[in-house]
Amino acid sequence: MPRTLPVKADRFVGNLFIMLVFLAIFVVYYSVVVCVLMPRFMHSNISKILLGIYHFVCVMLGWCLWQTIMGDPGQVPTFWGFHFGDHESKRKRYCLMCNVFKPERCHHCSTCNRCVLNMDHHCPWVNNCIGFWNRKQFVLLLIYVLLSSYLSFPILTYDLYYRLPMEYEKFNRETRSYTGFLSLAIILFGWVITGAASYLMTNFLRFHIELIFSNKTTIEFLEKKGEQFESPFALSPRENWEQVFGCNKLLWFFPVSWASGHPIGDGVYWRMNPNIAANNNSQQNASQASNRQNSENRRLIGQNDSERNDSSRSENSAKNKNDIKANKENINHQPPDSGRSEVKNPPEDSDKHMETVVNRKDEKNTLIVHSQDKNRLLKNTLIKK
Ligand SMILES: [Zn+2]
Ligand SMILES: [Zn+2]
Repeated sequence: MPRTLPVKADRFVGNLFIMLVFLAIFVVYYSVVVCVLMPRFMHSNISKILLGIYHFVCVMLGWCLWQTIMGDPGQVPTFWGFHFGDHESKRKRYCLMCNVFKPERCHHCSTCNRCVLNMDHHCPWVNNCIGFWNRKQFVLLLIYVLLSSYLSFPILTYDLYYRLPMEYEKFNRETRSYTGFLSLAIILFGWVITGAASYLMTNFLRFHIELIFSNKTTIEFLEKKGEQFESPFALSPRENWEQVFGCNKLLWFFPVSWASGHPIGDGVYWRMNPNIAANNNSQQNASQASNRQNSENRRLIGQNDSERNDSSRSENSAKNKNDIKANKENINHQPPDSGRSEVKNPPEDSDKHMETVVNRKDEKNTLIVHSQDKNRLLKNTLIKK
């Protein structure tokens, strides 16, 4: 039986972010409309036109914001996947928390504490998941925020250019009052917000539009980050766009999900691109085969190395033992005629030697005897006869 989990504390904390968003919108609106455009309304036609455009953008922004916050991102249909004969033939994924089978591209959001169809990401600024049913609203929200910022930033910059020296002069020469500074502070605050939003939203919106045209979600992009990856659900760019925005061009600019503004599909079953799916499968198989081959090679190399090390270690130890034994015999007995070598310049104080180490130095039967006597090193050479 599907289970509805309780709302987590993170979701309540997320409401603070929504309040911050509302505060930022209010500051920008107040600075542009009340402080800049309204005082010029009566004697400037440009101000009237700007006010009209600005209010249209603000209404659209508010509508998109409301729909994104309140809209359902997409719920798994009750009992989906429990019945035999479902279209999905491959192994199904199961969410142990929600007690539901997860359709393709469905993920469990840990903040919302529920499974979301075609989950893109959880957006803290709207305190909601972005999924199949509100992705269009979210992207439209980004578009209208960007439009609003592109309108507000030049208006506020123009106003500040004339206002700043005027306010400074007024403060110095006349009343020395701070009344003009309150509106100046609000305008400055709005100017900073719109400047930051213009820069950040441009990149963010571009990223999301690229994702839509390639039929990917943010989660899928992050999962395959750094890899050459084509979504198996990617059709033509137009079909990918219509999958999110619907097939009616007139409704592309409005945050509606009804009628022909409806995203194509149901978020549960997905059309796949057979070419990309086959290509991905062959790449995946090749990658798995390559990984298997590499691990086998590593295993064989490791085995050979250990065998070679064992044999060389045993050979070396035997050889060293023989060499040390032969050299010790040569040194101790020093037969004048029978030996193949003799010691030249024997040390005068050989009785004080603490330790003697014999090393085989090269293939010319030259042996060097290192003697250590109170930090002194002596070399003796055995010369081949
Ligand atoms: Zn879940
Ligand atoms: Zn969420």
